[in-house]
Amino acid sequence: YAGRPASSVISERLHKLLVNDYKAVPIVVSESASAYDAIVTLFLEDVGTLFVVNQKGYLAGVISRKDLLRASLGNKTLEDVPVSIIMSRMPNIITCAPEETLYAAAKKLIDFQIDSLPVVRPSEDDPKFMELTGRVTKTTIAKAFVELGSEPKV
Ligand code: ADP
Repeated sequence: YAGRPASSVISERLHKLLVNDYKAVPIVVSESASAYDAIVTLFLEDVGTLFVVNQKGYLAGVISRKDLLRASLGNKTLEDVPVSIIMSRMPNIITCAPEETLYAAAKKLIDFQIDSLPVVRPSEDDPKFMELTGRVTKTTIAKAFVELGSEPKV
């Protein structure tokens, strides 16, 4: 890095970071789980967003804290509300691929004003279904940001 402006070094390192190297484990609930189950899972797993999978394990939707808060506003018993009716669902889910840059994933979080992206790849059995391989959240981005700000590992 000798003789190069620090800004171009940091920018170059930034654009080399890949989702696959930073992704966290996806926390999932099944489509048949209740809103009550989803809230318990949020606390137990200490996450803000859950991914919803169908019976075959493919991505079906995303459920956020606010989706669950909204469902809690009515008088309904949360045990009787399936997550499948309150989640955001495929094909309207914003995803990222393992080989995408972390920068591209961060840009999606900003552009779509969401906290979390499922990391997916098309199923080998049926490419119209997505297999979950991880999650990228604002925390993932903050961790990478802090790492970039520390001494370059040459
Ligand atoms: P919160 O609602 O807790 O602030 P988000 O900002 O992530 O969390 O979610 C806002 C809305 O966008 C919610 O209705 C949620 O279901 C939806 N959402 C979250 N992540 C995604 C995603 N990756 N693709 C599509 N919709 C999403």
